[in-house]
Amino acid sequence: MSATSRQTPRPRDGVRALTGYHSPQVDVPVRLNTNESPYPPPDDFLAAWLGALRTTPMHRYPDRATSALRERLGGHLGQPPERLLCANGSNEVLQALLLAYGGASRRALVFEPTYALHSHIARITGTEVVEGGRRADFTVDVDHALGLVAAHEPSLVFLCSPNNPTGGVEPRATVDALLDATDAIVVVDEAYGELAESSCIDLVDDERPLVVTRTYSKVWSMAALRLGFGAAPPWLIADLEKVILPYHLSAPVQLAGTLALDFAAEMKDRVGRLVEERARVSAALRAIDGVRVFPSGANFVLVRIETGAGEPTAPGDRGHATWQGLLERGVLVRDFSRREHLTDCLRVTIGTPDENDRFLDALDAVLAGTRAHEVIA
Ligand SMILES: *Cc1c(COP(=O)(O)O)cnc(C)c1O
Repeated sequence: MSATSRQTPRPRDGVRALTGYHSPQVDVPVRLNTNESPYPPPDDFLAAWLGALRTTPMHRYPDRATSALRERLGGHLGQPPERLLCANGSNEVLQALLLAYGGASRRALVFEPTYALHSHIARITGTEVVEGGRRADFTVDVDHALGLVAAHEPSLVFLCSPNNPTGGVEPRATVDALLDATDAIVVVDEAYGELAESSCIDLVDDERPLVVTRTYSKVWSMAALRLGFGAAPPWLIADLEKVILPYHLSAPVQLAGTLALDFAAEMKDRVGRLVEERARVSAALRAIDGVRVFPSGANFVLVRIETGAGEPTAPGDRGHATWQGLLERGVLVRDFSRREHLTDCLRVTIGTPDENDRFLDALDAVLAGTRAHEVIA
């Protein structure tokens, strides 16, 4: 082939249509945009981990079955190790689910707005995405869900509890109703499960096709390490293991996940602090005129900016202008203002008390500025 007729290789159609994952990584003093823990892991944990690394045979592949980690984690969760799959972040568990049970001519049901990676990974694997909706308060309507299941016969149904980015906790009855109505795999993404008042992890048994995913990224302060897991019946775990690459979970990550469980009390204490701050920040936001606050069971709060900046020229302008104003004051939150269903919404991660104060002060200043502008206009 002559050089002039060469074409740049193109990925398959489904991949070409994708837009990738966009969350700006900007260097600012107060970073409240990606729901990480504001607290680094305990020093004693780091010391124990670094010590253990020194005696780890790095010339050998890691334990492929991640046995020690699953044993300890199972003890911590009250689940037998056969019901656990550990992976590089819970995103890898979601990917394994879609690789094994999704694919061409199969469907995954999601309820928008929700965590974008569910539909994104589905599309990567060639799985058709069926988009259900939510009520105005962002809860899932069970009858609507059952109707979609009957009409589309999905292979997988994704719930997210607490739901990212809206914060609401799904009642266990919704999960039970779905499991009763369909043979589809019901996935409950509990990336923020430890921060909520109820969880579905104890609904996992040996038979029903229920998968609950969790992560060390958020409450366990280990986002940099990439560790997550899924709890599911052993037959389902065996299917996921078929599509996971051998030796996928590095020895340092397996060690970190195991040793972190020795510090469960410290982690519980951090969760307690975040839950307290969530209540304080939510109350402060509720006291601001023109800001709607959605109830959250996670380490973030979704708000809608309902007034300010005169008449907006396009939907989402108010939210976006507020996001911009916060950024100019050194506070980065997540901008969903122009996302469908989330017009004028911003998602704010709960940080340290000091970071939260700086956010609240910045928001006051931004909104005061736009109100002054309204008076002049
Ligand atoms: C952050 C997040 C994840 C990603 O978790 P990793 O373990 O870091 O891959 C999964 N699901 C939801 C809903 C999240 O918000």
